[in-house]
Amino acid sequence: MDQKWGLVLAAIDGLPTLAQVIRDHDLVAKKALGQNFLLDLNLTAKIARAAGDLTGCDVLEVGPGPGGLTRGLLAEGARRVLAVEKDARCLPALAQIADAYPGRLEVVQGDALAMDVAGRLTAPIKVVANLPYNVGTELLIRWLTPAVWPPFWASLTLMFQREVAERIVAKPGGDHYGRLALLAQWRADARIVMTLPPEAFTPAPKVHSAVVHLTALPQPRYPADGAVLQRITAMAFNQRRKMLRSALKGMGPDIEDRLQATGIAPTARAEEIGLEAFCALARSYT
Ligand code: SAM
Repeated sequence: MDQKWGLVLAAIDGLPTLAQVIRDHDLVAKKALGQNFLLDLNLTAKIARAAGDLTGCDVLEVGPGPGGLTRGLLAEGARRVLAVEKDARCLPALAQIADAYPGRLEVVQGDALAMDVAGRLTAPIKVVANLPYNVGTELLIRWLTPAVWPPFWASLTLMFQREVAERIVAKPGGDHYGRLALLAQWRADARIVMTLPPEAFTPAPKVHSAVVHLTALPQPRYPADGAVLQRITAMAFNQRRKMLRSALKGMGPDIEDRLQATGIAPTARAEEIGLEAFCALARSYT
């Protein structure tokens, strides 16, 4: 660390430390915006590295806040970062970062759920975000279900509550396995690359967090119509304790025959069935 102009400067980029940034801009965390900030720039650089090689990539960051992860992404060599932040109080702190990395950071203020900024980026595009978990899950579902595949992004590196991260990477047979696992794993490789204790954040949340890295597959892992697959998995997991022949009654009177023809025991439960078999069942309707 450097001592300069009475400020404590961070070794990573010579900008003020994040604790200083928060003091300077009076960024008292707002619960309603899910603000749990990462103040350790070594940690944010590590998360940035979890997104893989960033040189030659545009990065979409959602929810930069005071900019810890943004600084990690820029210091790790991202060609350009487009950051979408809802809280206008963060803009001056982010402007300071933009000045330190001329031409490489653009900040857009607004609700990431209400805007589509992908068109402003140039491929290859990586998405990196530390968001409130409900916003993160909603965006993940949108990013996994575009009308056309492959999507605009090459990879997603996203922070979630650990329990949500486990649901994304879950395999058949456990309580975590469900629609989110099937949706994610149908079109992407998904793995947990880091887990973080509550103390890594300021203020500390109640639960552990985890970073999930998803890489888009060039095409879905098994052929299936996305809408049919989603309808089947929604129905199957809405009544996950029921046998599939009754949980999937809404798919038509011949469901038992279809299950049998696909090699799925009609008495099995949703959580026992793998992605390949769900896709085969979906194909029987097209
Ligand atoms: N990336 C920063 C970090 O790691 O320290 C901040 C993370 S904090 C968990 C979540 C950030 O997302 C906050 O800055 C919050 O204002 C922002 N945010 C919350 N909802 C948002 C939304 N719908 N669109 C864009 N940003 C949002």
